[in-house]
Amino acid sequence: MRVVDLIKNTDKTAFSFEVLPPLKGTGIEKLYKDIDTLQEFCPKYINITTHRSEYVYHELGNGLFERARLRRRPGTVAVAAAIHNKYGITTVPHILCSGFSREDTEYVLLDLQFLNITDLLVLRGDKAKHESTFTPEPNGPSHALELAEQINDFNRGVFVDGSPVKVTNTPFSYGVACYPEKHEESPNMEQDIYWLKKKVEAGAEYAVTQLFYDNRKYFEFVQKVREAGINIPIIPGIKPLRKKSQLTVIPKTFKVDIPDELVQEALKCETDEATEALGTEWCIQQCKELIAHGVPSIHFYSVGAVDSIKQVAKAIY
Ligand code: FAD
Repeated sequence: MRVVDLIKNTDKTAFSFEVLPPLKGTGIEKLYKDIDTLQEFCPKYINITTHRSEYVYHELGNGLFERARLRRRPGTVAVAAAIHNKYGITTVPHILCSGFSREDTEYVLLDLQFLNITDLLVLRGDKAKHESTFTPEPNGPSHALELAEQINDFNRGVFVDGSPVKVTNTPFSYGVACYPEKHEESPNMEQDIYWLKKKVEAGAEYAVTQLFYDNRKYFEFVQKVREAGINIPIIPGIKPLRKKSQLTVIPKTFKVDIPDELVQEALKCETDEATEALGTEWCIQQCKELIAHGVPSIHFYSVGAVDSIKQVAKAIY
């Protein structure tokens, strides 16, 4: 079932979360344990992130280094299928421009079609760690919009080389990302919303926000996108604060502000447990306010935060 239908056909605010594929060489058991922890709250769907390969350098012992490519977290498609089979929950793999050519993506789409996994989150992806700006792969898309257009072509029965896709099953449906505090590369919010609208016109059925800690930013953003004529669900993405070190890591990684009130309270915490309790309580209040405003769904960024999310879900569902 498509995500937009899953979040519409519900009498209360829907619950969903995102998981990361296990690190290369580790098993899937920990991931299952995390899902088991959150399953009682009836997630409508589970997202599986995708991670591009990076360059790593191996010392050769003669003063020289050898450069090799490494994907630390492969397996998005297999993890999506494994979760779907084990739990019977809709899975939403992330599809990226970053690190993938159009042909690579076509093979991913074919695998997903065989597996009957047809809900996607379409993203540009993060730049490689060694890059200062995002660089697409040769014959790779530069923006999520171009990736969405490739998926539309696939749905229409056309491969990247123009030849026909002979077997067409349920078409892929997809959501995209959006940024209540603006994407870091965008010159201003208006430009960012302009490109969001293009993604919607291409076929995005909903958008999931970057994480945020100040609901006012979300409410203002939703108002602006509505004024721009964007009417799809804007699903808030939420992550509870857990450690004092995140006060600097989160703004650097996700380009978002943490409200001063939360920062001041976190600075007073003497242990990680105290910070986690504070972050959980902040998150509960955030979610309660979002629900009171009638958001269709709340999407949780669960990495490293499963136990906090369980506390939040207990309080709000
Ligand atoms: P785009 O929509 O391509 O936008 C990128 C920038 O270009 C924006 O500034 C936009 O305004 C501008 N822009 C958009 N289209 C055009 C155009 N056609 N011409 C000119 N400018 C344009 N990253 C991962 O690597 N893996 C993941 O699994 C992952 N999951 C995520 C899930 C969510 C919910 C979110 C919010 C982010 C996720 N990210 C992930 C991070 C995301 O890939 C980065 O934020 C990335 O920098 C931008 O992705 P996008 O899809 O928003 O890009």
